[in-house]
Amino acid sequence: MTTTKDLSKHPCFNRESAGSCGRVHLPVAPKCNIMCNFCNRKYDCVSESRPGVTSAVLTPEQAVLYMDKVLEKEPRITVCGIAGPGDPMANPEALETVRLLKDKYPQMLFCLSTNGLALPAHAAELAELGVTHVTVTVNAVDPKIGAKIYSWARDGKVIHRGEAAARLLLERQIEGIKILKAKGVIVKSNTIVIPGVNDHHVLEVSKVLSELGVDIQNIMPIFPVADTPFAEVEAPSSEMIKDLREKAGGLVPQMSHCRRCRADAVGLLCNDRSGELAPLLGECSR
Ligand code: SF4
Ligand code: SF4
Repeated sequence: MTTTKDLSKHPCFNRESAGSCGRVHLPVAPKCNIMCNFCNRKYDCVSESRPGVTSAVLTPEQAVLYMDKVLEKEPRITVCGIAGPGDPMANPEALETVRLLKDKYPQMLFCLSTNGLALPAHAAELAELGVTHVTVTVNAVDPKIGAKIYSWARDGKVIHRGEAAARLLLERQIEGIKILKAKGVIVKSNTIVIPGVNDHHVLEVSKVLSELGVDIQNIMPIFPVADTPFAEVEAPSSEMIKDLREKAGGLVPQMSHCRRCRADAVGLLCNDRSGELAPLLGECSR
């Protein structure tokens, strides 16, 4: 991928830029193609967001209008991300949004987060569209463990369950990441730590990510959400997360400044303006 964009201006991948470069998440992807046992879709995609509803879902055209308005109010935005509230690869509107925005804002970095199930089908196109950063959430590299985390995965018209779903998801994640890396895309992997389910397995995940050339791993504690199979799981302690990050850091670089942003987050990581700028989202979604 050839680009003249300044890749260092992504505050999540480069902590040094977090005080001067901001991000906006465009909520254009409501549907999802898998069911994570920690997710309640009345809330957000917890693979990239804290559980709080996005205040609106936008069409691609509305997203362009919203972007124009956001940049007037917050010109420090350097990254335009799509992080839900479902999975961008399960919503053609996500790529359509990038298509509409990339020529209008050529210096903007485009970033997507995905569970990876449909990534192989779209990875090359993402790179061609100029998406420079992709996050793939990888919570398990053993289908037996994955089967405890995912209820099902829908591939076209077929719904897979149990280990078959987890195996397919893992295969697609690996294949998708390989394509992205071959195309020069920067890849982050989120790994959500679920005590008693995958906490003992995180370093295995890190090892596989390292072999795939993933640039950075974001080990995050589960945020137990009501009305989900993991609602009663005890969230991991900060010591457990710190310890895992330290150990995993020997395998793959670690992120430690993630803010678990909403699917409609906007502003600097240290100065989130989602609440203040929410009326813009309302105006554009009408
Ligand atoms: Fe929810 Fe995201 Fe998992 Fe889809 S990928 S089920 S939106 S957490
Ligand atoms: Fe960055 Fe984390 Fe926020 Fe995503 S959720 S935009 S990785 S700080």
